[in-house]
Amino acid sequence: MKYIDEFRDGAIAKKIQARLHAEAQPARQYSFMEFCGGHTHAISRYGIGELLPHNVRMIHGPGCPVCVLPIGRIDLAIQLALERGAIVCTYGDTMRVPASGGLSLVRAKARGGDIRMVYSGADALEIARREPGREVVFFAIGFETTTPPTALTIRTAQQEGLKNFSVLCCHVLTPSAITHILESPEVRQFGTVPIDGFVGPAHVSIVIGSAPYEHFAEEYRKPVVIAGFEPLDVMQAVLMLVRQVNEGRAEVENEFTRAVNRDGNLHAQALVSQVFELRNSFEWRGLGEVPYSALKIRPAFAEFDAERRFGLGYQPVPDNKACECGAILRGVKKPTDCKIFGTVCTPENPVGSCMVSSEGACAAHYSYGRFKDIAVKVEVAA
Ligand code: SF4
Repeated sequence: MKYIDEFRDGAIAKKIQARLHAEAQPARQYSFMEFCGGHTHAISRYGIGELLPHNVRMIHGPGCPVCVLPIGRIDLAIQLALERGAIVCTYGDTMRVPASGGLSLVRAKARGGDIRMVYSGADALEIARREPGREVVFFAIGFETTTPPTALTIRTAQQEGLKNFSVLCCHVLTPSAITHILESPEVRQFGTVPIDGFVGPAHVSIVIGSAPYEHFAEEYRKPVVIAGFEPLDVMQAVLMLVRQVNEGRAEVENEFTRAVNRDGNLHAQALVSQVFELRNSFEWRGLGEVPYSALKIRPAFAEFDAERRFGLGYQPVPDNKACECGAILRGVKKPTDCKIFGTVCTPENPVGSCMVSSEGACAAHYSYGRFKDIAVKVEVAA
């Protein structure tokens, strides 16, 4: 398949692996964070960690939109369905994220909430058109990738004069989260890991371009290489990061030139800024309150803002005490450091959010990596 097969070629992977082993200097340690859940998934699924030199460590970052959704936000969506009688529409993965009181959206649906899985905000809009007598709320989550379609949905609702449609906006921003990981006060609580550079997001960068990372690379002296989601993309990006570290450079480089340019999609950016503005602060699961890291709906579209329409008040809710998602999302711990990994907490019964989506660090490790941690006993017949 064009643009897929050539980025999964085993012979080329071996060549990149050989270059990595030749260029990674044995006397130093390299730690790179892949911010994006898509990269975390690719690293686990294709066993990329096994191909890297032993002194090159990949740290899984908080770039899975489902994993960073805090309990309090899901509680708001459940409240809309169970207490306000609204039809709540959202993406499939969001349905299973654990919320307060042992609930999730899918469990609230079993209790009678009218909660529907949709593939896009446009699907939710269509439900609102079909059911004018009901309030329909689109529970919108995601990074810069899913934000333009939500903006388009809100603008369309306004143009059509829909009176029964609104959006519970939980869209978050990548660059602010990366900055927060490096300098937040919580670093004292969770400890910190040395990060030598970042594998930059793929789909997010198609929308925002590579330019927003330039200030970041300069300010924090950390290289960023934007990479696609195929295994060779990730390996090439790691090689480019190793080279930057060896040469003492901290620049933004673009491995994903087939889809990303410096400026991004200007049309999508204009649409987003027409409909949304910055929130002063937003809670991320595992990261806590992150300043200027999320979007809210502008006053010109206030009637489509579910928070204003229903007078919702946000209440933060602490994570399950056993859950180590906070430390995992910062790269301080690995999934297997959590005592309930693979026993109480599994993809079928996620306790923490990192186990919900296939892009979450715990789910990726559960699906593709957990057996390599188990010692295999070989008994030789006498
Ligand atoms: S195993 Fe479950 S509870 Fe533990 S850190 Fe991962 S998602 Fe959280």
